[in-house]
Amino acid sequence: MTASSLPSAAPWRATVLTLFPEMFPGPLGVSLAGRALTSGIWSLEARDIRASATDKHRSVDDTPAGGGPGMVLRADVLAAAIDSADAAPERPRLLMSPRGRPLTQAFVHELAAGPGPLIVCGRFEGIDQRVIDARELTEVSIGDYVLSGGEIAALVLIDACVRLLPGVMGKLESGTDESFSDGLLEYPQYTRPQLFEGRPVPDVLISGDHGKVAAWRRAQALSLTEARRPDLWARWQERYGREQNGPGQKAPKSTTDG
Ligand code: SAH
Repeated sequence: MTASSLPSAAPWRATVLTLFPEMFPGPLGVSLAGRALTSGIWSLEARDIRASATDKHRSVDDTPAGGGPGMVLRADVLAAAIDSADAAPERPRLLMSPRGRPLTQAFVHELAAGPGPLIVCGRFEGIDQRVIDARELTEVSIGDYVLSGGEIAALVLIDACVRLLPGVMGKLESGTDESFSDGLLEYPQYTRPQLFEGRPVPDVLISGDHGKVAAWRRAQALSLTEARRPDLWARWQERYGREQNGPGQKAPKSTTDG
């Protein structure tokens, strides 16, 4: 059997454990992600944590040990929910959590390249620490703010992964040129009309000179990153040095759009 006749790998899939399975696929059912879901490029299973509750009230949460406000998701119920899902050892087991590893484009690439994660969505004050430890959940944060539940964070993570799967985006390059893919923010985009309320599309972009266009875009990406994101800019300079414009790039002539 030749390499090209090998059966393709199983489609990327996300399994979500949530108290609100009706939130899925939600916004992932439309546009690029929705079409890819329908065509089987990826699959999604939303499982109700409450189905693993055992007492007669089907309770999933209880008051925090040691006191304090709110409720905490029970370790036993959540562990049973995880164990009843298909948690194959090669699948990342994630817990959406503001304390987690920041979700970055590099992390998204890593997740998109794998078989697809099992994702636990917290609610209330969070979940019992013992289930995080016992089931070795990797906590993942989508940013330094607090949501009321992990579902929207899980939708964000899945959306970012799905658009990178082969066959989802129109053009393969779309994923390689954009913000964060090389540590820089993306350059500004323009389209028709050529003149909008007195503002023309920058001349260089209609010059037909691909080299000049690439240099202009690079210069824009560098100056935008420097101006808006000192954190990314510092990392960039650390990697490539102050005088460098990045791997394989000539110094741009100008950093303005004039
Ligand atoms: N008391 C917790 C917050 C609980 S918010 C704390 O201070 O850390 C309820 C749930 O929303 C969390 O369990 C988590 O699943 C989800 N969540 C909230 N903010 C999030 C964020 N920035 N990233 C990922 N998940 C988040």
